[in-house]
Amino acid sequence: MVRTAAGADNLHVRWRVITTATARILALLTLIGRKAGDAVLPNACVFCNVRCRQERPPICDECHHELPWIRDACRVCGIPVAAQLPRGVHCAACQLDAPPFTFAIAPLVYAFPVDAAIKAMKFRRKLFYVPAFAHLLDESLRRIPADVDALLPVPLHWRRHAMRGFNQAAELCRPIRRMMQLPLVTNVVRTRATPFQSGLTATQRQRNLQAAFAVRGTVNARHVLIVDDVITTGETCRCLANVLLDGGVEKVSVLAVARALPD
Ligand SMILES: [Zn+2]
Ligand SMILES: [Zn+2]
Repeated sequence: MVRTAAGADNLHVRWRVITTATARILALLTLIGRKAGDAVLPNACVFCNVRCRQERPPICDECHHELPWIRDACRVCGIPVAAQLPRGVHCAACQLDAPPFTFAIAPLVYAFPVDAAIKAMKFRRKLFYVPAFAHLLDESLRRIPADVDALLPVPLHWRRHAMRGFNQAAELCRPIRRMMQLPLVTNVVRTRATPFQSGLTATQRQRNLQAAFAVRGTVNARHVLIVDDVITTGETCRCLANVLLDGGVEKVSVLAVARALPD
């Protein structure tokens, strides 16, 4: 049977309706899950599950102390460095191939228990981690350049958003937006459902992300802060920053909960 263009369009529309409905149902389940999680364990530490003094968000002193904090990092790419670099001096990787963003910060190494918590948030809908991560970003927020005037959570492709029911970067951005009192950039979209980046080589990652984002119209901001859960190689942020700069934004910075160490 020959499938006509109109037939294909119809199928596409039907698929979109189904996935949008699925997204709504999943979002509702997420909300219910969040309330249920709050009710069952009101002040158990989100990392070790032991009851703790601190309630909002519940992170016990021991876990807080033991988390894989990044002490010194390159100001441009956020990668941990052995000792604090003098102002204006960047890591070797940035000196060789400077990224298109001017500043990046992530307070934690993407290692246990942070990696497990991020995966649980993203793939098992444990959204009670969101306020905990926002709390852990507190100190980093004070170091964000003062001229940042808009926030952009890394967009998910609509199909992945529909299947997951939420965008973890957008969830993280919600409390950050409240704390920073800044508007969101809402007209940047992910145009391709790129496969997951993990397990790919640097070249494969670049190819994977080519033309993955697009600006619809113009971005009304001069310095955009990209918000994500984890910076792996930084390739997603590079692509997104290039799209923003091509769209007329003057500067781009990056904020994430965690930074993966280079292989
Ligand atoms: Zn704990
Ligand atoms: Zn660097």
